[in-house]
Amino acid sequence: MASVAENMKQTKAQLPNEVTLVVVSKTQPNVLIEEAYTSGQRVFGENRVQELVPKYEALPKDIAWHLIGHLQTNKVKYIAPFVALIHSVDSEKLLVEVDKQAARCNRKIEVLLQMYIAQEETKFGFDVAEAEELLSRQTDFQHVRIVGLMGMATNTDNSDQVRKEFRGLAQFFKTQQEKYGATHFHTLSMGMSSDWKIAVEEGATMIRIGSSIFRS
Ligand SMILES: *Cc1c(COP(=O)(O)O)cnc(C)c1O
Repeated sequence: MASVAENMKQTKAQLPNEVTLVVVSKTQPNVLIEEAYTSGQRVFGENRVQELVPKYEALPKDIAWHLIGHLQTNKVKYIAPFVALIHSVDSEKLLVEVDKQAARCNRKIEVLLQMYIAQEETKFGFDVAEAEELLSRQTDFQHVRIVGLMGMATNTDNSDQVRKEFRGLAQFFKTQQEKYGATHFHTLSMGMSSDWKIAVEEGATMIRIGSSIFRS
């Protein structure tokens, strides 16, 4: 039986140094998160505010918590005091609310714009024109820092399709990086357990892995 620590070690061994691993701990009990923490992991991702807040309260304070799932505007206030990165900003309304709650906490919150890249009706996100337009007005939002993009590929076994979607997102990421600079705009979050190798080949700087690390 493989342990969380062994699974993490295996994944990291295949990962270029400059790619950040976000361990997705949604639905996992604290004891398993502590196992990953003990073996050195400090960046964890959760997709629900109701689950993230109690985990933040119970677990070590030097964990960088990332919110990776769809976020409702009325829940932003619960995570604004501590969240390290929000991957899933998928509307201007949400960005406005993050800005407002960050101001209340006297913080500047780092966020990614979630891009719609999949051939699926259910996924959230911006298209290229919307994201470009919003980025051109990013200085309107004084308490957020848009540090990059996030995308989820179609859930399919067709790796050509997945690669095409990641490649398109990476191209758009590069054009925006040229505009806004790599020190400010540095993070491309793409790739999960099933498709992270393709994502890294296509230029991901951050991957979000859950099931393949917590499998036993
Ligand atoms: C659950 C989730 C992941 C991780 O998926 P796995 O297949 O468990 O690796 C990554 N990103 C988001 C947005 C998720 O909700």
